[in-house]
Amino acid sequence: MPTKISCQVCGADIEIPDDVLDGELVSCSSCGQKYQVTIQNGLIQLKLIKVEEEDWGE
Ligand SMILES: [Zn+2]
Repeated sequence: MPTKISCQVCGADIEIPDDVLDGELVSCSSCGQKYQVTIQNGLIQLKLIKVEEEDWGE
């Protein structure tokens, strides 16, 4: 049964497969936010990855 974790950005459920590996990247299917999976003591957590925005020189 896949783990579901709420997206920190939009609140949608992100399905984490059971065979996910520590350090793997997942993304929210709703808003596209990327997360890095960290597994500690069997507990799956998501670390939000900040995408560097391109500097268009405002
Ligand atoms: Zn999201």
